Amino acid sequence: MGRPSDFTECSPALNYFLLENLLFGIYINSMSDIIDEFHALIPTNARHSGTGWTNMCCPSCGDTRFRGGIKFTSSGGWRYYCFNSGCIFCTQPTGWEPGNGFGGRPRRLFELMGGDIRTIPTKELLSFNTQRYNRRGEEIGTSERLDVTYKFPEVGLPPETMPLMEASKKFRKAADVFRWAYGRYGEWTKELPFAWSPQRDKYLILPFFHYDDIIVGYVGRNIEASSGGNRFIGRAPTDYIFNQHILSTMSAKYIIVVESPIDAALLGCLATRSSVLTQKQINLLTVSGKDPVFIPDYKAGEYESFLNVAKENNWCVAVPNWISRDATDVGDSIKTNGKLLTIELIMKNMTKDCDAVETKIRALAKWKET
Ligand SMILES: [Zn+2]
Repeated sequence: MGRPSDFTECSPALNYFLLENLLFGIYINSMSDIIDEFHALIPTNARHSGTGWTNMCCPSCGDTRFRGGIKFTSSGGWRYYCFNSGCIFCTQPTGWEPGNGFGGRPRRLFELMGGDIRTIPTKELLSFNTQRYNRRGEEIGTSERLDVTYKFPEVGLPPETMPLMEASKKFRKAADVFRWAYGRYGEWTKELPFAWSPQRDKYLILPFFHYDDIIVGYVGRNIEASSGGNRFIGRAPTDYIFNQHILSTMSAKYIIVVESPIDAALLGCLATRSSVLTQKQINLLTVSGKDPVFIPDYKAGEYESFLNVAKENNWCVAVPNWISRDATDVGDSIKTNGKLLTIELIMKNMTKDCDAVETKIRALAKWKET
């Protein structure tokens, strides 16, 4: 169990807590792995105060004066508060209760204490619908929940949109678009659900399929524009993350997050569709139980906000050297390095050290310009 072995060292309040749980033995048996693991992580030098707090050196702010306080609740959960005024757990205390999922800030604390999330069964991580947060990610009472969007209205594609392969056999313009796509994405052009519309005949269109059956948006890439305002067309709800349904259909621990839906379609991952995430997009990633791995584009003015959101939420980032000299994003890498090597490069470069990543990406972005 990892709970304090010597009762006499415990405060009366903690003794009372343990006694209460002994009396309700059934409750102890149903206590989850989350609290077991959390107990086991409390340092052996932790001090038990008379007020029911167990004090340890806060693992978040580099504190050495035992200002991190843990209190176990009578409902079988815990609260954490840091008494060091500069610490994020001072301005925003955290905690966990049985029945809640295990994401966001409680999970972050757990990992800072040296916990390994893989010891927690997936079903407990995923019971996120009962987890209660307010908009700033703070745990709160029963009425408010972290706002997440799972449902989106159906969106119509441009008039007479048809599959690109089919269109390329009938229309010269569609054949041009197909050739352009083939030059960039190779054989993947035939695998992905690319489309074309005679009304938008310069555009390579990618419909956004939500759970395979409904179309909730699309993006069109102008094959004749390399920059400027007419490079992209599209429609989709702002809060939609491209491919977001795979968060619940895929069992993988890590999920790659890029900006461009076409890159994400190639890699089978998520795309935020902008370098700036909406609060609901952040919430969805927070409660997903996955470890997001952010891959910024190596372009000045675009990577900064993407990197910041990863930093603020303690998510992984990966900034690989894409090997080929002119590759600035995942799409370029897939074209020149192939899909497997691209994924390998991402996995090998995953880190939470955002400052180091920023230095590297600045050098890469500068180098690409010259
Ligand atoms: Zn602290």
